[in-house]
Amino acid sequence: MNHYDPQVIEEKRQEIWEREHLFRVTEDGTKEKYYLLEMFPYPSGKIHMGHVRNYSIGDVIARYKRMRGYNVLHPMGWDAFGMPAENAAIDRGIQPATWTYENIDYMRKQLKRLGFSYDWEREIATCDVDYYRWEQWMFLKMYEKGLVYRKSSPVNYCQKCQTVLANEQVEGGVCWRCGEQVVQKELTQWFFGITQYGDELFEYCDKLPGWPERVLNMQKNWIGKSYGVEVDFSMEDGTLLTIFTTRPDTLFGVTFMVLAPEHPLATELPKGTPQEQATLDFVKKAKAQDKSFRAEIAINKEGVFTGRYVTNPLTGTKVPIYIGNFVLMEYGTGAIMSVPAHDQSDFEFAK
Ligand SMILES: [Zn+2]
Repeated sequence: MNHYDPQVIEEKRQEIWEREHLFRVTEDGTKEKYYLLEMFPYPSGKIHMGHVRNYSIGDVIARYKRMRGYNVLHPMGWDAFGMPAENAAIDRGIQPATWTYENIDYMRKQLKRLGFSYDWEREIATCDVDYYRWEQWMFLKMYEKGLVYRKSSPVNYCQKCQTVLANEQVEGGVCWRCGEQVVQKELTQWFFGITQYGDELFEYCDKLPGWPERVLNMQKNWIGKSYGVEVDFSMEDGTLLTIFTTRPDTLFGVTFMVLAPEHPLATELPKGTPQEQATLDFVKKAKAQDKSFRAEIAINKEGVFTGRYVTNPLTGTKVPIYIGNFVLMEYGTGAIMSVPAHDQSDFEFAK
């Protein structure tokens, strides 16, 4: 018979595979281990062609390695916590759990029908207590070691949805779900002390053979190790403005200061100056901008003069204070000195 009828042939074979636990993997010291993990799908409803493509590639490798005698662990699971479940629940007026588990059942059936060689006995869903109890256990271990801590920090917040939004959920300054203007709200949050591993990560970049220089540099920049000093500048009324700089050697060339829109002084400084309204308007606008967008070097730098000055302690000259969208509160003190003659970014803003 030359005719291939998938409905007949595949369903029959898949039934046998399942009955015989063909893809079950058990510990076996005589074989070399091979762990093959593809990205877990989000249980959004139905398997789409992107899944089929991705998991077909993985399955080819799994089958190849099995035929080469490896003990292949090829599991499947569900990345099942998050906004989409919450949105679907709101839209349909049902419990997120009901919606999520129904989708998982449907998508599991689809994956099985595609004949992928998963060990379904190893299936996990991140919304199962059996799974996330281990995440909670790990969290507690990190807490005991002082690797997690609480701190107040500004977050993207939609007042209509009454929820915190990820940067990706802020589109053009408005909430992706309801179109409401997103505001920055100070909230107490949990943080991981990843900077405690900064030195280790940084040094390890040089121990990775075969990685392109470009990627390693990106990684190093991301780790964001900056050595610098804090410098106090004083204003006419004696108020101190503390800035962080990696280039104290350029202090003589300072021509202006820039504060992050989130800086506590940002809305204080312009009070009573002709720049008051313009500054407040700008701070509101800049705070609504996406943080990752603002951190990009290439964006159009924008700023406003606050109407106030500080004195350069070395030269005695008065330098104006600006608010700039490219300065982030998370970096240093949230205030920088600008030296257009020695820094490209400062030069661009100055122009
Ligand atoms: Zn909203």
